[in-house]
Amino acid sequence: MHIIPQLDLSGQTEDWQSEFNHLITSGQQLLEAVGLGCDTALLEQAAQAEKLFPVRAPWPLVRKIKPGDANDPILKQLLASGPELLDVAGYVADPLEETAATQTPGLIHKYHGRVLLTFASQCVTNCRYCFRRHFDYESNRLNQQKLRQISEYLASDTSIKEIILSGGDPLSVGNGQFQRFFDALEKIEHIDKVRIHTRVPAVIPARIDKEFVNILAKSKHKIVVVVHVNHAQELDEHFDFAMQQLRQQGVTLLNQSVLLKGVNDSADALINLSERLFTAGVLPYYLHLLDQVSGAAHFYVSQKLATNLHKQMQSKLPGYLVPRLVREIAQEKSKTWIL
Ligand SMILES: *Cc1c(COP(=O)(O)O)cnc(C)c1O
Ligand code: SF4
Repeated sequence: MHIIPQLDLSGQTEDWQSEFNHLITSGQQLLEAVGLGCDTALLEQAAQAEKLFPVRAPWPLVRKIKPGDANDPILKQLLASGPELLDVAGYVADPLEETAATQTPGLIHKYHGRVLLTFASQCVTNCRYCFRRHFDYESNRLNQQKLRQISEYLASDTSIKEIILSGGDPLSVGNGQFQRFFDALEKIEHIDKVRIHTRVPAVIPARIDKEFVNILAKSKHKIVVVVHVNHAQELDEHFDFAMQQLRQQGVTLLNQSVLLKGVNDSADALINLSERLFTAGVLPYYLHLLDQVSGAAHFYVSQKLATNLHKQMQSKLPGYLVPRLVREIAQEKSKTWIL
């Protein structure tokens, strides 16, 4: 399988490439890796559920799972499981109506002033709750022609100030492609911010290599990196180092999490996460209610419980360590804040 199909690999020898290329790609491998290979019920469920959405789990993240613990918060996010097969009312393939907001393939323009580019056609890890589980990456895959159309769209709308690189995971493409993208962007005067939404720093921190940091450092744009971390257990000193490299270049570092049943649905887990992120120089930005995508209903935490957890966070943390609790309502002009 080609993990990074559009990568320009010339001159790249860093070991993060082998971490991208040697993923765990089945529930069985994953269960064996964490000492649960004898659990026939989990094995069978995974075998069924991964037919709908494959398992992709990089080793640096898998090594952070507590061996033998079927309830480990990282394992829950990576292992295909039986409940994904359930058809639950209200859960749909495209809960955010992104297809309708796609102006030109690869570009989603929903909110004033900022557009989202599906810069990469896959993620390095498949999060089981992903709202883009069913996204049509194939027809949104960027090629020269689509990039030209996107450039024209961006150039023609001067209200667009910010480009958000999203995914798939933008950091699953190589540095060469990033460089070419930044070069092309220089020509569009009215864009002054580039935001990168990525799960990679918590998953393969070595991806934040010198060359990548230099590309950001040379850019004339203000850069915001929004990492995606759901539990403090995902973070280690390699993550801290990666964030430090970015911070030294003046990159703004934020985090977004999804509130997930069985993963981070306790005040302690959320408070620890905020504190741990801050240690790495990252501020919590959003705590999302689950987008109701089919196959992920078992992760849903109700708005009532979410509000309660959020209040507990507010009572224990300084305001800047309390993320905004939000949900996305299709057709609204921004995320909806839940107060
Ligand atoms: C979430 C999202 C954004 C970013 O919204 P912010 O509130 O600026 O973080 C932009 N475009 C789309 C399509 C989104 O889903
Ligand atoms: S990193 Fe984000 S886009 Fe990628 S699978 Fe996870 S939730 Fe989905």
